[in-house]
Amino acid sequence: MKIVVAGGAGFIGSHLCEYLLTKSHEVICLDNLLTGNKKNLKNALKYKQFRFIKTDVTHKLPEDLGKIDAVFHLASPASPNLNSPISYHTLAMETMLVNTQGTLNLLNLAHSNKARFLFASSSEVYGDPQVNPQPESYRGNVSTTGPRSVYDEAKRFGETLTSYFVRKKNLDARIARIFNTYGPRILPQDGRMLTNFILQALSSKPITLYGKGEQTRSLCYVSDTVMGLTSLMFIDNLAGEIVNIGTTKEHMVKEYAKMVKELTHSNSQIVSTEKLPQDDPLVRRPDINKASTLLNWFPKVKLPQGITETINYYRHA
Ligand code: UDP
Repeated sequence: MKIVVAGGAGFIGSHLCEYLLTKSHEVICLDNLLTGNKKNLKNALKYKQFRFIKTDVTHKLPEDLGKIDAVFHLASPASPNLNSPISYHTLAMETMLVNTQGTLNLLNLAHSNKARFLFASSSEVYGDPQVNPQPESYRGNVSTTGPRSVYDEAKRFGETLTSYFVRKKNLDARIARIFNTYGPRILPQDGRMLTNFILQALSSKPITLYGKGEQTRSLCYVSDTVMGLTSLMFIDNLAGEIVNIGTTKEHMVKEYAKMVKELTHSNSQIVSTEKLPQDDPLVRRPDINKASTLLNWFPKVKLPQGITETINYYRHA
């Protein structure tokens, strides 16, 4: 198959490109490298059936792509860290546009090719949830105007656009709500929890909990996330389905800090440095019954294994 991966130079996108290449697909990666990085494509670029095009999907898409069979849309800033130069706060307008205008452009590309489409949505559509775990039927608790709204509401509208194409234009599109994913290639400046903790532990700096670190997250290793996304794309008869992709193993942020400290054998202190950022969800855990029923998909990588692999990557990065 010939597959477009928008955002293919990003963290999850680059792992997805590599997986598709190992399955002998032809892959066209579209990325403007705003938050993605060409270094992530080191392995992908070794394949002759891989093509990288530096382009912004919010603008006119390249016309020489040929006949396409499937489009994954993972292009978006994704970090909620206020201090990050590449967060969706810093890149607020880009974030809003890539999930709305960018989604529309890519939906049109899929439609004109009669291709399948997958929109990478987010657990952020549930906001600071009042229901835990979150099933796909939960409509969320999102502020339309708060700091996270530039991402949350853009993802929600991206879902709306995608559903419109399914309903009105018969497009075979699917929506993945991706929960916290970790693994090699998250950029240090992204400021994500596990990456911060690992880099702090490896350099014997304090491991920084925002607030008391009692908020919870459920972390899924990137290879499992990629398997979930590809299953959702390639299994037949799932047009219009919305599926949570994540793990149900929920821990407090301070517990992740402790795991990282132990697995790195670090002498770093675990400290509570700042108050919880505004609208930081207090709990987050997916209900993955739908993924297990429809896709026969379950995350496989255990936390100690995934965290160890991630630590090894950052030790040598
Ligand atoms: N967090 C933290 N210390 C850090 C970075 C993040 O305590 O150095 C917290 C953050 O406030 C949030 C959780 O860890 O509650 C996960 O943050 P992340 O940025 O990875 O993503 P989110 O799940 O908030 O989208």
